[in-house]
Amino acid sequence: MTTNPPPTMVQPGRIRVLKPGSNPNGAVVYWMFRDQRVKDNWALVHAVDEANKRNAPVAVAFNLFDMFKGANARHLGFMLRGLKHLQASLYNSLHIPFFLFQGEAIETIPKFLIECGASLLVTDFTPLREIRKYKEEICKKVGDSVSVHEVDAHNVVPVWEASSKLEYGARTIRSKINKLLPTYLIDYPTLQSPNQRWAFTPPDIHWDKLIQECLKKGAGVSEIDWCEPGETAALDVLMGNQNGFLTKRLKNYATDRNNPLKPRALSGLSPYLHFGQISAQRCAFEARNVRKVAPEAVDAFLEELIVRRELADNFCYYQPHYDSLMGAWEWARNTLMDHASDKREHLYTREQLEKAQTADQLWNASQLEMVHFGKMHGFMRMYWAKKILEWTNGPEEALAIAIYLNDKYEIDGRDPSGYVGCMWSICGVHDQGWRERPVFGKIRYMNYAGCKRKFNVDAYIAYVKRLVVETKKRKAEAGLSSGRDKETRREA
Ligand code: FAD
Repeated sequence: MTTNPPPTMVQPGRIRVLKPGSNPNGAVVYWMFRDQRVKDNWALVHAVDEANKRNAPVAVAFNLFDMFKGANARHLGFMLRGLKHLQASLYNSLHIPFFLFQGEAIETIPKFLIECGASLLVTDFTPLREIRKYKEEICKKVGDSVSVHEVDAHNVVPVWEASSKLEYGARTIRSKINKLLPTYLIDYPTLQSPNQRWAFTPPDIHWDKLIQECLKKGAGVSEIDWCEPGETAALDVLMGNQNGFLTKRLKNYATDRNNPLKPRALSGLSPYLHFGQISAQRCAFEARNVRKVAPEAVDAFLEELIVRRELADNFCYYQPHYDSLMGAWEWARNTLMDHASDKREHLYTREQLEKAQTADQLWNASQLEMVHFGKMHGFMRMYWAKKILEWTNGPEEALAIAIYLNDKYEIDGRDPSGYVGCMWSICGVHDQGWRERPVFGKIRYMNYAGCKRKFNVDAYIAYVKRLVVETKKRKAEAGLSSGRDKETRREA
């Protein structure tokens, strides 16, 4: 039976106590990093709830690392513009202050906790190693008085509740997740302002200056202009009246989601999901509400959004080698090593691949779609990564190149789904063995002829050519950053 929690409570299974503390009633700080939103955020709900219990105030803290995981203008522009909106909405709707720090979180967060006499630090969950390590360090640093709680606000079913071990594939995790959906796939409570107000005003954040600095530093990869950052825009992409996925485009998902010529058939939600500007639970909840309209499309969407995405978190959480050949299953490692020295028809360097200088125009088009548009179509991502295996000196090199390019150019890159996407394509993770062939061994193979049977390859190549020309033209005419800044000034 579905048990809805009381209006302001978070299900206990979503919260993990990383460290108990002895101070029962100081301020509460929510260190936000993966779930960058005000609405539909269980970590924020928990922070407010705990603050009220302690009769204490609550603040949100965000630490801007220096080029975290190779972040460039594309990632930083999107994230900071989203955070600028978040700061305003957090204050206007809930009177919660937002503190922005720059530098190392293991320094800035503990220092802030001392300054404000905090009794509790609430943090987001991520399976990626860098932040996990920082969290461990912070727990050691904060002293006996402060408790640290981690909330999985990113997955519909918290990763540790879905499974306590590394899952073999979608087949093994699906029923575990589905069993828990009645508990976790529920609507969110309406969050009210906390009972106590924060005593001091946070320092002003000069967003425009900060954004300009970050854009300059990460100028190697330009911003995208087709995807408005922030949680309002994210909700619009999900269910806006104009062109929302669930309101206007849903039916096409069932028929056209594997056609790279029809990118609008996909939800387009991955940038927002990656930066936490929308909650996967909100997307799933609303999709389920319209299932009657297009059951096949909704079922397929939920499979990707919940099962596949949460399987990726499961992999990165329980497999420390989530981005290397060592993280592959033994059968896959063996077959890849058996074929590592097979003769390749073509061999390309990372630089040639990055510049889309291969003999395969289809592959080049997908690479250019990623470099210029910032989001390669999901179907092409599989072909793209598999070809890298075919054209480089063995699986380790192929994986390193695929991850490097994916993280550098995809707006949704540097994400568990990216590591697992590359591991699936190159190392057979979450897949099975197939008929053995040169280079690939038993790893699933994809080729040009197969793509040609599925969609109009020449039309896709022409489509990307147009996309690149148009993108370059727009940038040359207006200058993307200055165009955005004019808009920012208008809003301010
Ligand atoms: P939709 O089909 O509308 O899917 C909705 C959501 O479901 C997505 O936003 C995503 O969160 C999730 N999803 C969809 N497909 C998958 C999948 N195969 N695995 C896990 N979750 C999925 N996804 C990323 O978010 N970041 C990446 O860096 C990334 N890199 C990839 C690299 C390779 C080589 C491969 C094969 C896949 C990669 N994916 C990645 C997964 C998938 O291709 C993208 O999530 C999807 O194309 C995003 O577009 P969408 O939101 O319009 O997709």
